[in-house]
Amino acid sequence: MKTPIVTKAQLDEIVQRFPTPFHIYDEAGIRENARRLYKAFSWNPGFKEYFAVKATPNPAILQILHEEGCGVDCSSLTELMLSDRVGFKSDEIMFSSNATPAEEFQMAADLDATINLDDITHIDFLEKTIGYLPKTISCRYNPGGEFKIANTIMDQPGNAKYGMTRPQMSEAFRILRDKGVEEFGIHSFLASNTLTNEYYPTLAAQLFQLAVELHQELGVHIGFINLSGGIGIPYLPDQEGNDINVIAEGVRKAYEAILVPAGMGDVAIFTELGRYMLAPYGQLVATAIHEKHTYKEYIGLDACACNLMRPAMYGAYHHITVSGKEDAVCDHMYDITGSLCENNDKFAIDRMLPKIDIGDYIVIHDTGAHGHSMGYNYNGKLRSAELLLQTDGSVRMIRRAETPEDYFATLCF
Ligand SMILES: *Cc1c(COP(=O)(O)O)cnc(C)c1O
Repeated sequence: MKTPIVTKAQLDEIVQRFPTPFHIYDEAGIRENARRLYKAFSWNPGFKEYFAVKATPNPAILQILHEEGCGVDCSSLTELMLSDRVGFKSDEIMFSSNATPAEEFQMAADLDATINLDDITHIDFLEKTIGYLPKTISCRYNPGGEFKIANTIMDQPGNAKYGMTRPQMSEAFRILRDKGVEEFGIHSFLASNTLTNEYYPTLAAQLFQLAVELHQELGVHIGFINLSGGIGIPYLPDQEGNDINVIAEGVRKAYEAILVPAGMGDVAIFTELGRYMLAPYGQLVATAIHEKHTYKEYIGLDACACNLMRPAMYGAYHHITVSGKEDAVCDHMYDITGSLCENNDKFAIDRMLPKIDIGDYIVIHDTGAHGHSMGYNYNGKLRSAELLLQTDGSVRMIRRAETPEDYFATLCF
């Protein structure tokens, strides 16, 4: 059962100050979830979550996560600048980029962030760019082929652009060691939005094994293993979610079985979760402004794919609630659309919902990660505001809506 963050009565008040559409985030939910994660991994003294900034790049959200002990995972210049402005320091910043421009490595080095190299050639590129190699470096691993759990193919790392091969990992660590790097990290991201408690434990076992091999082969000190992102959330109302306690316990078992016997019981576990940290704690609220009866029944919203791209881009399911009609029977079938001149601009297709009236608030669930942040300006549409429902029950604007002036600001007349 998915419930709106705010009631119809609250929305009636909120829209007096902030018109729809907007994304609204639930501070209490974000904090509780972050605390659950830290508690689950408390068996590992060095554990740290580096929130994937790209999921929800808003300073208020980053500040909340910072207060809960999280760092940030950045992959671009502006994400680094944003994290710096929010007050993240040095070992609170992971820089996991790919096809990295020189100025981004420079910025990461200026902030003394932990750099995670995507490719063996980046060793040279980084050294030439910043003039030295940091004492701590991480390398991203790609085992190739298919990533399977039991007999299920989770993803195809062999087709992914990220990371280094197994021989390259040895070669990279050897070069880095010989150039004076003292502490090493291993990073890998092999499957996205996983809905199984086995993903992290399976990945961890592979990375722990790799860490033992690299340690024994080269005598290097592995300081941390970064399991990156990929823990999913149940977008469908009848899907079962992951259990972070079961996941963390699975990682602990692999740690005890593989790292501890190799004398590597000091390795810190890092994560770079985005979706798991934020997706359920954000919702896109729009208003039904048109109904159309042709070959199908359509409801047109004041939001469009520019506010939430996932349904149009991936055919992703996002649950929808008609605010104030939570208990009404879902006996009407609708396509819920935006206003783009693109037929894929549909938040839902053939969705059973209560009868929708013009003016109803339409709450689109699980937009807290990869929602507003994937927004764009196609058709000259403007990105919406972001609001925060704070723990004291008040609502604060944490990003204003774009205006036509913003759209025109980069144009040269
Ligand atoms: C996108 C990304 C993440 C976060 O992924 P989620 O699926 O949101 O957990 C973490 N690390 C890196 C390097 C990424 O590119």
